[in-house]
Amino acid sequence: MEISSLEALTLTHFSHAHPLHLSQIDDNGQKENPRCGGCHEECSSKDGVYACRSCTYFLHCECADPPREIRHPADELHPLAFLDVPPYPGEVFSCSACRQIGRGFLYRCAACRLDVHPRCARLPACVQHPSHKHALVLATKTAYGGLGFICDLCIRHGRKQWYYRCKPCGFELHTECAIKESSKSSGKSSKKKKGSKDSRAEKEAEKFVKEAVSEVIEEILDNM
Ligand SMILES: [Zn+2]
Ligand SMILES: [Zn+2]
Ligand SMILES: [Zn+2]
Ligand SMILES: [Zn+2]
Ligand SMILES: [Zn+2]
Ligand SMILES: [Zn+2]
Repeated sequence: MEISSLEALTLTHFSHAHPLHLSQIDDNGQKENPRCGGCHEECSSKDGVYACRSCTYFLHCECADPPREIRHPADELHPLAFLDVPPYPGEVFSCSACRQIGRGFLYRCAACRLDVHPRCARLPACVQHPSHKHALVLATKTAYGGLGFICDLCIRHGRKQWYYRCKPCGFELHTECAIKESSKSSGKSSKKKKGSKDSRAEKEAEKFVKEAVSEVIEEILDNM
């Protein structure tokens, strides 16, 4: 029992010459958290990581043995294939989910032009957020026929990225805003920013226009 758990603590991985050891990142006031040698995304104290401390090399536990293929609601037709290097010039890709640049592992459907960070591919299909009474569903199509949305938490725009929403209420959140808050204790309500009342009224107005416009767009598309 002791031996097998010890074995699980050490890992030999193709991405690094030395054995890696199961460890934890401590992000108490550090300038910047280290990046994962696999997906090149940040490692935080919440992640399980394998580390080579002498090289300061880190690897998310999830990135140690990622599934070669996944099914994702963003692509109802095809499975997404795992790639360890982006198949593009400069070996970078633009993530379809968060619209950030990716430099490491990705999941891809070439036919649908979907390129997704492994971390973004693992976003839950549904989250419960303290700022809204209903469950929020992950939306992977562009909001309001490509017009984008305004996040009800940070009151910033989101355009061609995935987001969480409650459709009947017209409530939308950036994925990062939804995940950040839903992992905290849900007791505290988020502090309102100055002027958020005005922004909210603006948002309501904008939402009204967008809903009208996107309905027209959808109608046009339906009739094509
Ligand atoms: Zn990783
Ligand atoms: Zn090393
Ligand atoms: Zn992403
Ligand atoms: Zn596809
Ligand atoms: Zn936001
Ligand atoms: Zn709702």
